[in-house]
Amino acid sequence: MTLRERARTWLNTIPVRLQRRAQDYLTQDRLHRRLRLGDHTLAAELIGYQDTYHMALTTGIQYELTCSCSLPSQPCVHAVALVLDVDRHFQDYTEASWKACLQAKDALSRWPFDEGLDWSLIDKARPWWRHAYQAERLEAIREGALRPPARQGIAKDASLALWAELDPSWLSHPAVTDAFRIWLDTRSPVVPQDWPLWILLHWMQPLLPLNAIFLSAVHPSRAAQALLAQMHHPAPLIRPTAQRHIRLLEDITLLDPDLANPLWTLAEGLDPYHLVQADALFVANQRKKAIALLERHLPNDKNARRQARRRLVQWTSPEDSVPHQLAMAWESGLIEDLTSIQHLISPQTWDRVTRAIQTDPNASPKDDWV
Ligand SMILES: [Zn+2]
Repeated sequence: MTLRERARTWLNTIPVRLQRRAQDYLTQDRLHRRLRLGDHTLAAELIGYQDTYHMALTTGIQYELTCSCSLPSQPCVHAVALVLDVDRHFQDYTEASWKACLQAKDALSRWPFDEGLDWSLIDKARPWWRHAYQAERLEAIREGALRPPARQGIAKDASLALWAELDPSWLSHPAVTDAFRIWLDTRSPVVPQDWPLWILLHWMQPLLPLNAIFLSAVHPSRAAQALLAQMHHPAPLIRPTAQRHIRLLEDITLLDPDLANPLWTLAEGLDPYHLVQADALFVANQRKKAIALLERHLPNDKNARRQARRRLVQWTSPEDSVPHQLAMAWESGLIEDLTSIQHLISPQTWDRVTRAIQTDPNASPKDDWV
């Protein structure tokens, strides 16, 4: 059961009178600073009639509803307001803002209670860039991208927060990724003190294309150190996901393939077919290693195998790619997979191969075909 579903079930058990009192807080717009921590905590701030409260709906071994007030009755009216709000404004519960992550550091072990988190660093309401893509806001993104880098360094760069927090739906629009590249080009190579910021940016927004930044590292070991520290952060405000971990492994590979090698082995579950690792090696100019890795671990899974073959075809010379193209056509049963190498095969062999693929799906490629 998700937290939202749990909130709904909870509501059914809460007396209507208590729900009405909680509803008054929402009608008077007293609940704000909504925050999500991974898939296991939703929290918010409530301005009460006497004081300010922080409530959290969490799930670990069991579901819990907590509040910073000292009212004896549980759940208190503030916690009920949270449950009502989660049901209606679930989308507004977003992960922490850039400025909260910058200042949180290691002081979060007791979170979500009052100590440890400065609630003023959480936005009162969800800003426009944390909503799904809106074409009419594109100009604001472009203008931000064209602004020159701040003289005081990347930490003062206003656009950094926007990129880190941008709703992922924006990143599938070419105009947005173009704007990001323009912004990036004026900020590379990276000065050593900015590494933690770049790594935090990639952690918060794993879909951003940051390969160029990692390839431009002036001090690869310092950058790799910062990456490792992020991967093993004791209390991250932005929770680890497989995608976040795999991006950092990719970045470590770009900086130092030998250092990254044992880490990929430890994280094999994240990349079972070694496709991301091979991509990272290829971008890091380790083409032979990338090819050898894929050839050594050709996936049994049909789709993954096709993805591995596609990479091998792209990364090898036209002549060396022939066996992979033949195998790919064989596995897919599609003659189109062969058309780019037709000129490398004699007409007689071409006839035999295409006929065999079309008529006998159980046959296998023969050595004398190429
Ligand atoms: Zn309370």
